[in-house]
Amino acid sequence: MASAVILDRSGLHTLIDSLRESGYQVLGPTVRDGAVVLAEIQTPDDLPGGVGDTQEAGTYRIHSRSDEALFSFATTAQSAKSVLFPADELLWRGRRVGSGFEVDPPDADPAPVALLGVRGCDLAAIAIQDQVLAGRELTDAHYTSRRARALIIAVTCASPAGTCFCASMGTGPKPGAGADLTLTEVLDPDGHRFLAEVGSATGQEVLSGVPTRPATQADLDAAAAVVSGAVTQMGRELGTEDLHDLLYANAESPVWTDVGERCLACTNCTMVCPTCFCTSVEDVSDLTGDIDERHRVWDSCFSMEYSRLHGGSVRTSTSSRYRQWLTHKLAAWTDQFGVSGCVGCGRCITWCPAAIDLTAEVAALRAADVRATTQRRDMSRGSGRRTPTSTDR
Ligand code: SF4
Ligand code: SF4
Repeated sequence: MASAVILDRSGLHTLIDSLRESGYQVLGPTVRDGAVVLAEIQTPDDLPGGVGDTQEAGTYRIHSRSDEALFSFATTAQSAKSVLFPADELLWRGRRVGSGFEVDPPDADPAPVALLGVRGCDLAAIAIQDQVLAGRELTDAHYTSRRARALIIAVTCASPAGTCFCASMGTGPKPGAGADLTLTEVLDPDGHRFLAEVGSATGQEVLSGVPTRPATQADLDAAAAVVSGAVTQMGRELGTEDLHDLLYANAESPVWTDVGERCLACTNCTMVCPTCFCTSVEDVSDLTGDIDERHRVWDSCFSMEYSRLHGGSVRTSTSSRYRQWLTHKLAAWTDQFGVSGCVGCGRCITWCPAAIDLTAEVAALRAADVRATTQRRDMSRGSGRRTPTSTDR
């Protein structure tokens, strides 16, 4: 793999130009309606220059920074999931023809996308969705096609938010493997520049037309300082030790009842989560009934309907649905796919209207861990000093 090189802001402009000339639709962070969201980028001027963000449980605000950094905010409101696995996908369209019907040929493939500014957490989430949607016996044809043609330019997170905990999950702040190119933005007395590291032959190719210079040791040290500085700014942490067994052992914990009383079952957390992949299929027709469409739409385990089998829903209480979500994310997902279903992006915390924080809920589960209670009881029985329990009273 090629050594790291340095490009400046005009080099970034050339990189975007050359991607567009190669037929990519470049999507990256931009400011819209008071938030940093993913949208089409035509020049570096479209990026959130001098914009930072504040994210806390149930809170999101952008603010001006005192510098011209282009990527000094945390996660965008949506992740790459909204591009590679859109919330509403047309599966097929049919038209009435006489007493039968014909199915329209599929739409032509849209332009391939180049995703600019993908964070480490979101890069890890893409790898998870690759496994779920494109790596098993039955693959999702739409996702697989879109993903195969996508180019990913990751960017090291320099300013994690209060809700971020990628360092706990091992997914950031420096993006791991899987990007075609990884940029680290550096602003110091030596100038505003980007350390570029190539991750694939395609990444090498797109960089070949961009004016760069070899990175010096000072550049590498400055980029490493960005990473170490970001680690110290990480807003939250999640103790991952024993998480799988903790969740399974505490299926009857009172913590679920407590969180169920606060949770609105609004589904926001699953909509913004970059790894959640539950969907439903919806059929719609026009008013005349001549045209029918079948769509795949995002769905959520927080909705009552999602667990409906014949005779009714399996998970009728909000607490049981929250338990299902968190236990799948942090425990059952590992059994299914060998990795955690959470990459530590913090979006479910930021965008929860009830400010529910999964790191706090896990801490509450730990504090009330039924296994510790049982162990204490056994020990006191063994020593002849029995702790009174509720059944004693
Ligand atoms: S945890 Fe928060 S975001 Fe998720 S369903 Fe409940 S209220 Fe909505
Ligand atoms: S569970 Fe929350 S923090 Fe974890 S990946 Fe999903 S949205 Fe991000």
